[in-house]
Amino acid sequence: MQRPFRAWWRVFKGRFGSSHSQGSPLDRANATATQTQMQYRRAQGVLRAVWGYPDFRANQAHAVRRVLSGSDGLVLMPTGGGKSISFQVPGLVLGGLTLVISPLVSLMQDQVATLAGRGVAAFAMTGSVDLRVARFLNRRIVEAPAFFLYLAPERIGSPLLATIIEGHVPTRLIVDEAHCISSWGHDFRPAYRQIHRLRHAWNVPCVALTATATPRVARDICRVLDLQDPFRLAFSFARDNLFFAVRHGVDPGPDLTRILSQVEGSSIVYDASREGTEVWAEKLRRAGLKAAAYHAGMAAEERARVQDAWLRGRTRIVVATNAFGMGIDKPDVRVVAHVGIPDSIEAWYQEAGRAGRDGRPALSIVFDTPDARSSREAIMGMGATRRQRSRFAAMLRWLEREACRNWGVLGYFGQAAPDECTACDQCRPDLLGSWLGQPARTPMG
Ligand SMILES: [Zn+2]
Repeated sequence: MQRPFRAWWRVFKGRFGSSHSQGSPLDRANATATQTQMQYRRAQGVLRAVWGYPDFRANQAHAVRRVLSGSDGLVLMPTGGGKSISFQVPGLVLGGLTLVISPLVSLMQDQVATLAGRGVAAFAMTGSVDLRVARFLNRRIVEAPAFFLYLAPERIGSPLLATIIEGHVPTRLIVDEAHCISSWGHDFRPAYRQIHRLRHAWNVPCVALTATATPRVARDICRVLDLQDPFRLAFSFARDNLFFAVRHGVDPGPDLTRILSQVEGSSIVYDASREGTEVWAEKLRRAGLKAAAYHAGMAAEERARVQDAWLRGRTRIVVATNAFGMGIDKPDVRVVAHVGIPDSIEAWYQEAGRAGRDGRPALSIVFDTPDARSSREAIMGMGATRRQRSRFAAMLRWLEREACRNWGVLGYFGQAAPDECTACDQCRPDLLGSWLGQPARTPMG
């Protein structure tokens, strides 16, 4: 069977001729509004034929138009908002080589597998590339109407990369998880600082994407990548189906088992330590729930087995350290509970945001206990930098907040909050009661 992109390409080429050899990247940057409009219609065609979606969501449509117009940009879009579509579809419409910098092998492999399944030529430069493969890829880039090359920032400057792209100038540079570029961000990765070398070498449009960036981190991304007059698209991080709650000082056990037994679908419980995940998984199993632990100390096959059983719904609950969840997009996660305290609002929000991606009601609850605090303190230890400490302090302030939690987190990310909140324990304590399976409580009670 023809895979969708190839089928689309064959029809498109028959009607309009090749599109990816038109002009230099600079010409594209100067493309008129009419051209962009034409390209946008083609993008809608690609979305329908290759992804099977009727049209872009409003926020994606903005991002796609801007990427098509060839300008530099910064896209702030929460996870699950369809970030990758906003550069993959334009990549197919404009053709040529798109270089994608991404921090994690699993994220790259996921995206490459998804693209390949749609008939799109894509490759992730992970451990297994040798000179023979590099030469083969070099030829593939010429033959394919569009090609996506994924690599970790550590590969920039490697001779193999030079072989793969020899004779080609990428038509655009995409920096995914761009907050890793900022030492103010929570996942600073020094190799991200190498990316500006590619910027200067090629002078091609560069689009940075991230799901979590404070205004300071966003400024840092634009500065370090030297983005020229970038468009900025910040989509609301507000998720009105996701209820935020914090429980102070109570033993999480009874609340947690009650919440998890009365919801359907899958759940994730995060703890800060590996031992903690084993202990909590055992406690939940004793309470009759299907739970399994997941942490980086387990053998790779065992981790894969646990993740697979959870993805298929055979194990409803995974009790994990922060090693779990990157690149996972499971729509029916109903509860993300933290029995350990996250080290930053960014980390917490990324984990909590895995709940309720299907748009149905979901709960993020943090159990703020003295044990949980001291356990996180111990992990941070003496080695924590001043910035790490200040991010942790912001997390604690959010936990101690006596006003709307949504306003707290949106304010932290520099975003406007909705006038009315219906999804946090400060604004709607009655709804917290129903998650906990208790009669409604008033703030005074
Ligand atoms: Zn609220």
